[in-house]
Amino acid sequence: MTTETEFIQTQAEKYLLQNYGSRNLALVRGQGAHVWDNEGRRYLDLLSGLGVNNLGHCHPKVVAAIQHQAQTLLHVSNLYLIEPQARLAKLLVEHSPADRVFFCNSGTEAVEAAIKLARRYSHEQHGPGRHTIITLRNSFHGRTMGSLSATGQTKYQKGFEPMLERFVNVPINDLEAMKAAVDDTVCAVLLEPVQGEGGIHPCRPDYLRGVRELCDQRRLLLMFDEIQCGLGRSGHLFAADEFGVEPDVITLAKSLAGGVPIGAMLAKEEPAKVLSAGTHAATFGGNPLSCAAGVAAFQVILDEKLPERSQAVGGRFKERLLQLKQKHAAIVEVRGMGLMIGAQLAFPAAEAQGYLREHGILAGSAGPDVLRFLPPLIVDENELLAATEVLDKFLTTRP
Ligand code: PLP
Repeated sequence: MTTETEFIQTQAEKYLLQNYGSRNLALVRGQGAHVWDNEGRRYLDLLSGLGVNNLGHCHPKVVAAIQHQAQTLLHVSNLYLIEPQARLAKLLVEHSPADRVFFCNSGTEAVEAAIKLARRYSHEQHGPGRHTIITLRNSFHGRTMGSLSATGQTKYQKGFEPMLERFVNVPINDLEAMKAAVDDTVCAVLLEPVQGEGGIHPCRPDYLRGVRELCDQRRLLLMFDEIQCGLGRSGHLFAADEFGVEPDVITLAKSLAGGVPIGAMLAKEEPAKVLSAGTHAATFGGNPLSCAAGVAAFQVILDEKLPERSQAVGGRFKERLLQLKQKHAAIVEVRGMGLMIGAQLAFPAAEAQGYLREHGILAGSAGPDVLRFLPPLIVDENELLAATEVLDKFLTTRP
């Protein structure tokens, strides 16, 4: 480690809240699927920040949109019309099952908006008392109190209790368990079509269709958290498309503005009506800068057919990992869709991450033993497949 890295690390450890733990890699530049550290070393970023840089780092069209917007108008309040906000909303509505969009700044805020929408919609339809939201075990929806309460993993909640009341978790892909959880207090189901933080677990199509039917029968809102799996990551523009299921609400964030903070809650007309003037807001929500970046990023996804690319390249990547599984008993399972792939290992994923990093590859983890790959959707296929050779070498030489 150079003196400069030591300096950054010392400052970070002295002045920052230590909620991200100790870090010893300072990334200072990014281009396409690559990032560089402050010592000039290059890495292939197979985590896309954390599911954010789906277009790669510093996509020229996103950068140009940000530059243009930054010298035109950075901020005005939502007391006024904001042109890039309306343009991004139009794009999202035209390409999703939703009719209306609320913008915020992060994933957790998008989930909070969905929770508030579900509660208020139910309140207007049925009066008070029907505000239970069913979510899935192992899910992840964010770190603020509402989204944390929705999250089906107690490890994130520990010490922050009491959680917001009336969230019930059921196991993924178990329709009977979901049916059994529905009583007269339930107003909505919230789930990730492909669970991300929980270890890359896709919902089965028949399960999601069953959940849709159940929601229709019991008049519940079906809300998909596509913050990680949406916008091409799963091999479709929205993961919902893959399953042939139309949710009433979709939450987005992460990659939506190509690397600039943004969140969005998309909703069908009928429930959207309940968030009328004055019921919900965010000072920076839908700000000109992030929305201009969002318009450019969304247009790139469409123009470069990134969902299709994600499906094709991701399919071949998964195939290669499945071949590695045949060869190495240390790979327990390979799961995922598109370019959202997890390899469950028989040992801590951190070991593999460390080896890959030493060989210029950044991969993530999802839980203690799942190696997580969320490569930029523009990643060069040969480079991606070459990463599996590095993994192969690691598994072959690992004691
Ligand atoms: N929902 C899902 C599915 C996520 O993966 C995440 C973040 O990883 C969130 C919500 C929270 O997003 P944010 O960190 O932007 O608040």
